[in-house]
Amino acid sequence: MDFYCRYVLGFRTLDEESKKNSIRKFQILGFRFNFQLFQASARIRLRFLFADLIMSIGPGESSIPENDVVIVGSGPAGLTCAIYLARSGVVPVVLMGDVPGGQLIKTDVIENYPGFQEVSGCDLMMKMMSQAEFLGTKFIYEQVNAVSKIDGGFRLVLNSGETLSSMAILIATGATHKKIGCPGEDDFTNKGVSWCATCDGPLLKGNKVVAVVGGGNTAVTEALFLSKFAGRVFLIHRRSGLRADKIMQDKLFANDKIEMIWNSEVTEILGDQALKSIRLKNFTDNSEKILEVDGLFIAIGTVPASSIVRDLVDTDDNGYIKAANTLTSCDGLFAAGDVVSGSLKQAIFAAGSSALAAKRIEEYLWMR
Ligand SMILES: Cc1cc2nc3c(=O)[nH]c(=O)nc-3n(C[C@H](O)[C@H](O)[C@H](O)COP(=O)(O)OP(=O)(O)OC[C@H]3O[C@@H](n4cnc5c(N)ncnc54)[C@H](O)[C@@H]3O)c2cc1C
Repeated sequence: MDFYCRYVLGFRTLDEESKKNSIRKFQILGFRFNFQLFQASARIRLRFLFADLIMSIGPGESSIPENDVVIVGSGPAGLTCAIYLARSGVVPVVLMGDVPGGQLIKTDVIENYPGFQEVSGCDLMMKMMSQAEFLGTKFIYEQVNAVSKIDGGFRLVLNSGETLSSMAILIATGATHKKIGCPGEDDFTNKGVSWCATCDGPLLKGNKVVAVVGGGNTAVTEALFLSKFAGRVFLIHRRSGLRADKIMQDKLFANDKIEMIWNSEVTEILGDQALKSIRLKNFTDNSEKILEVDGLFIAIGTVPASSIVRDLVDTDDNGYIKAANTLTSCDGLFAAGDVVSGSLKQAIFAAGSSALAAKRIEEYLWMR
């Protein structure tokens, strides 16, 4: 059975070179006396057959938070970071949030995650969860309500009122798509209604009719992308002009597969097992019409789940966290995945950026 004993070796501040030398000496001793350097950060944990020994090198015990790293979010970003950190010997704690597995958990088919010709979002995320758990990740099924800076790290307040402290944090809380808010939207989500043309557009090949809702760059990009697959694309906008960049508008208007429906909004989404049509209301004359469609793509914006750290880090105008290669403006606080400004809102990008975050976190812990 593992037990822990704490050896305090003078708690003096070591310069980086002495710290690296000490670690090297322990690695060599490990080979000779059959123990393993299990974890390296401000605390160095040595695993014996019968015991773990924790040696602390640093300014003092009281300023060392209880966890090395806490990951907030359990989508592809959070779980990938956990997998990489666990394999490097750090024990990550993942706060799962109210949607364990993240946005993909409710997605029927994913066709663009490398290694899987076709996989359900639920299967993919369950595989990531079991891989992270197998490697030693600790899951806590709670939401984080607040994050603040403390001496030596961060303090997280959970939904239950409990608190955690950690030297480093990864924010991998993702983003949610804005909804129209009309009847039928929830019923036909993933049954013809989608928020992602890259994900679901290629499924609508041939003579299909699709509609896109929105008027910004995203909506125009989605419409252009969908025109490669569908027979006809309608772009529905509330106003009489688009907000998208001029160059995007030029491409849109030059595309004869795309037709604009101006001054209109979707008031109802109709179907039986799957989406069949949408009800549209025109603002100029209050008229209504039914448009038969095979797919409806909603591109009216996204909201990042960044409120818990908004006082700690720099964000862009829409609240997305500004991060350069996962480093934020707050030392020790890293961000990856959909919550990051300018990130490609795709699972592979969330996973890839998070692998980098793991590397950065590892380096950060070594240097403490
Ligand atoms: C319908 C749909 C279909 C999609 N299809 C595809 C596809 O086919 N291919 C593809 O590559 N991408 C697809 N995407 C996009 C993909 O889902 C995202 O890019 C990806 O999930 C982002 O991963 P993430 O880890 O950054 O965030 P998310 O997956 O959003 O995960 C965020 C996590 O953070 C947690 N969280 C949030 N706030 C808190 C908090 N305060 N405390 C604790 N936890 C918190 C949530 O519970 C969740 O677990 C699709 C998205 C949608 C909505």
